[in-house]
Amino acid sequence: MDIFIAPLKFYSALLLQNLVKELSKRFTSNIHIIELKMNLDDFLFFERGQYFSTQIIAEAMKLTDEFDGKIILLTNVDIFVPVLTFIFGEAQLNGKHSILSVCRLHEEFYSGISNESLLFERTIKEALHELGHCYGLRHCIDWDCVMHSSPGIEEVDIKGNTYCHKCISKIEGYKQ
Ligand SMILES: [Zn+2]
Ligand SMILES: [Zn+2]
Repeated sequence: MDIFIAPLKFYSALLLQNLVKELSKRFTSNIHIIELKMNLDDFLFFERGQYFSTQIIAEAMKLTDEFDGKIILLTNVDIFVPVLTFIFGEAQLNGKHSILSVCRLHEEFYSGISNESLLFERTIKEALHELGHCYGLRHCIDWDCVMHSSPGIEEVDIKGNTYCHKCISKIEGYKQ
């Protein structure tokens, strides 16, 4: 089953390229970059200055019938669901679609100092995490596992960057 990455308001070609490279190393699936004709501004909530991720996923579902596999919507904008101040990502449990925002994975968001390798490390962790949900995984209590919940950036940095043995058995085509 292939993995499709759809950049939406995502402008870092290098980060995208590195993500594709890393996912290709880890999965036997082919990794594709696809273009979806949708306007994220339709999902901007002006009073919050953020984009409603569940609605973005719902719109993407209408546009992606032709793609057989898992789809990650990748964006730079800050996303939310109404009960939370922000989220790094959202995924359909055992489904096809997920969304990942790198907005708050940037170190400059917290300290004002950019750190590209840390951004990459955080991005791959959260991409694997959202993919894990699409493959049917729920949150894991093992801190070495990328499926550990990460409501804040501290938890993203603390948890491991791959799946634990229990979780890995549910991921299709995972190599390492
Ligand atoms: Zn999660
Ligand atoms: Zn696990």
